[in-house]
Amino acid sequence: MSILQKNEILEGHVIDLTHEGHGVVKLDRYPVFIPNTLIDETIKFKVIKVKKNFAIGKLIEIKEQSKERVEPPCVYYYKCGGCQLQHMTYQAQLNMKKEQVINLFHRKADFKDTIINDTVGMENPWYYRNKSQIPVGKNKDEEIISGFYRQRSHDIIDMESCLIQDQLHQEVMNQLKVWFNELNINVYNEHKKQGLMRHVVIRTGHHTRELMVIFVTNGKKFKQSDLLVQKLVKAFPEITSIKHNVNNTHSNVILGAESNTLYGKTTINDKLSDVTFKISDQSFYQINSIQTEKLYQLAIEYANLKQDDVVLDTYCGIGTIGLYMAPKAKHVYGVEVVSEAIEDAKQNATINQFENTTFVCGKAEEVILKWKSQGIKPDVVMVDPPRKGCDETFLKTLLELNPRKIVYISCNPSTQQRDAQYLAQHYKLTKITPVDMFPHTTHVEAVAQFNRI
Ligand code: SAH
Repeated sequence: MSILQKNEILEGHVIDLTHEGHGVVKLDRYPVFIPNTLIDETIKFKVIKVKKNFAIGKLIEIKEQSKERVEPPCVYYYKCGGCQLQHMTYQAQLNMKKEQVINLFHRKADFKDTIINDTVGMENPWYYRNKSQIPVGKNKDEEIISGFYRQRSHDIIDMESCLIQDQLHQEVMNQLKVWFNELNINVYNEHKKQGLMRHVVIRTGHHTRELMVIFVTNGKKFKQSDLLVQKLVKAFPEITSIKHNVNNTHSNVILGAESNTLYGKTTINDKLSDVTFKISDQSFYQINSIQTEKLYQLAIEYANLKQDDVVLDTYCGIGTIGLYMAPKAKHVYGVEVVSEAIEDAKQNATINQFENTTFVCGKAEEVILKWKSQGIKPDVVMVDPPRKGCDETFLKTLLELNPRKIVYISCNPSTQQRDAQYLAQHYKLTKITPVDMFPHTTHVEAVAQFNRI
């Protein structure tokens, strides 16, 4: 039984941070998690939830402040669910992300000899998102608003500025909101599951500055589309593509299956290093282009490629990593489950005039088996799975393929640690470097090098 009572007001000293960035106060050995507090702070808090093994507190007063505390620059910070770490200096955020990787690999697993490097941060950690997905709704006065979801809810907070997305996205959205109100656009109501305009998605090629605007509607009929397209193109000459996506489902997934081009090209281009990438509205593309280049540079360095190496790029998206490596390798095989992304990958190989690449649509765990039966012998395997990590069949086959090196990029170091334990049967995990792809949020990305023992 807990010693705490709900609504009780207590004082405590923060000794740790959870991976969500919440401070931890221990009373006896019972932990209380308190958002917006930092290590070494003495705080007054209210107990708002009591569970068997932990409690949740709400910060009431900071008695002694950490020197790592800063005033969050964004006015919406305490309401919006987008950022979680703006009350911390950027250096403290980078340290926290490294600490999480150390905790997982050195303390919770037996990778004591693995070098864990400092988190690679951004020089200017703002305005980095090249994709914004902005929900549209109405406030109590029936005015159209757009912004971001309140923390842990789907209430829309109306916003005029966001410090982590490309600045041009906000300018486009602020202007669209004025036109939506003037034209009295029918907007979607999530509770009633009625209405038309659900989201506006904006994507930019960070280096090319090509801009795509996608209107996501519930239903096909979108009367004012011509007028909005005319206005947008006139006001923002940077726009190279405008799309209409239909999403009739009532799920949290933002884009529906069907997209039509209303203006310009069907895709946008971006460039990473010397390689050009074509990106469809549906394809995964790394959100932070500046950090992606650093991440891929590290991945290439860890792969230690030789010109006659055969490389597998597994979970390849639009082929970015493999295409980055193609000029330095003999042949690159890529696999990805989203068919649009594989189409992009194939076209990207053509655009860049690479003739030594093969991209296959399918599940990595199935395609890798096929490659093995075809006698393909990779020297280097790049692994970049979604949050849930790799399927065990995949890892088993990977060990059987026995490449010289495995480079594993992960957006969830806890599944990366699980998979690393499997690979440790035949591979030494030499080093890991966290790369800060999402400043001011708790997301941690890490690249790891495995050498065959
Ligand atoms: N390497 C790419 C994409 C990484 S994101 C890049 O750096 O841009 C992970 C990718 O894995 C996504 O594109 C997702 O569609 C894909 N994916 C998810 N499950 C998969 C599976 N079982 N097999 C193959 N690809 C999968």
